[in-house]
Amino acid sequence: MRRVRGAWELVRDFREGVEDPVEHAYKVLGAIRAWEPRVNAFISLEAPELVVEAAESVKRRIESGERVGRLAGVTVSVKDNICTSFLPTTAGSRMLDPYISPFNATVVERLMAEDAIVVGKTNLDEFAMGSTTELSAFGPTRNPWDLSRVPGGSSGGSAASLAYGGSDVSLGSDTGGSARLPAAYTATTSLKPTYGLVSRYGLIPYGNSLEQISPMARSVRDLALLLDVMGGWDPMDSTSLKVGGLDTFNSPPLDVGKLKVCVVREMAEGADPIIESAFWSILERLGSEGAEVVEVSVPIISKALPAYYTIAFSEAASNLARYDGVLYPAKGFSGVWEEFIAESRMRGFGREVKKRILMGVYALSEGYRDEYYIAATKVRRVIRDEILRVTRKCIIAAQAAPILPPRLGERLDDPLKLYAMDVYTVIANLAGVPALAQPIGFHSGLPIGIQWLAGPLEEGRLVSLGTLIEELTGLSGVIAG
Ligand code: GLN
Repeated sequence: MRRVRGAWELVRDFREGVEDPVEHAYKVLGAIRAWEPRVNAFISLEAPELVVEAAESVKRRIESGERVGRLAGVTVSVKDNICTSFLPTTAGSRMLDPYISPFNATVVERLMAEDAIVVGKTNLDEFAMGSTTELSAFGPTRNPWDLSRVPGGSSGGSAASLAYGGSDVSLGSDTGGSARLPAAYTATTSLKPTYGLVSRYGLIPYGNSLEQISPMARSVRDLALLLDVMGGWDPMDSTSLKVGGLDTFNSPPLDVGKLKVCVVREMAEGADPIIESAFWSILERLGSEGAEVVEVSVPIISKALPAYYTIAFSEAASNLARYDGVLYPAKGFSGVWEEFIAESRMRGFGREVKKRILMGVYALSEGYRDEYYIAATKVRRVIRDEILRVTRKCIIAAQAAPILPPRLGERLDDPLKLYAMDVYTVIANLAGVPALAQPIGFHSGLPIGIQWLAGPLEEGRLVSLGTLIEELTGLSGVIAG
């Protein structure tokens, strides 16, 4: 294990001239060169000369006293379901290979406007459907902490790039835990924002009523910095909230004597005993610092996983209908229309994606709709109401993952085992509330994470709590190797 500085500290040091952004860029490129053949965190990489050139420009501007952005010289990796005009966007699928977007996602624009340097696009389960990053058309990503194991998914490439030092910060997406699960598996952090706080313009949709682009980093303060830069109203996303001028980074420190933490039993039980013991020991620690820790029960949560998958598959079936091979990737059309489309989909989509489309179509179809899709949306509504009720009184402590990072192949034989990995994370997506994942320990060299949930737009409280936890555990800015 090694320790590195946060992006926010790097920017400060670049500006003060005590650290050289060009040297830093070389360091990051060196880590990519050394680790990539074993890890496969990236689907595409920016040309090293361009990365260095961007760092040189930051350096020149600092030296000449010009204004530089809040992310000046910070290297960022971007999940490959977020559109960029300068690198291909594949969503981990053959269907979109090669697709070059004519525009940048709003989040990418906002990061680059603050002088962040994009180093590449990261690997993911096809269309973000998965929990291990094994279901990518571009091969699996491995966990830098143990190369025989998965980094979690679907934003596994982003998390792995952070864990080996191949980027300072990253962008993931989180439909049902895809940014938080990989964070828990790689000793990194991620914050799924309140639904609507971050623009989804330029995010390739999977389950659009559930998902948010989520900052990923090696420290909680870096998440706050990223969120402040990329969050806030965007006219290009009709679900975007009319808020602006975020200042999560400067959230006031937490008065632990006034902190109330609720352990929702259904979000704490059932994990590997090793994970459970790490979970309870950090809560005891908080208790001894003066926080009040209470246990509550929300029984409807036992229905969260089936409700999530029913809704996610239904939305996927609708969202993925646009892929007919004519426009994406632009191949044009020849032969018999129906045959052409069938052939494109047969070749373009992987097994898991096809399965989800079929199940989604089934859940939405006449005669089954009430029993599946409508029923799931009702469960969702009750879960949301319950979570809002609890978060009005306290911050929820929850497990991030039920098991330690599995070995490659271990969870693929049985789809239910794969889906069960999201049992604790899907709740924040169903409820639309913010959730933070961060490391709390290691077991035999494997990272263990925790999750905190707060009420809508209470990202600042999560950041304050997360920062306090980092002080208690000393776990921030850690990288493998
Ligand atoms: N593993 C979950 C799924 O496959 C979540 C994925 C995600 O958050 N994108 O649906």
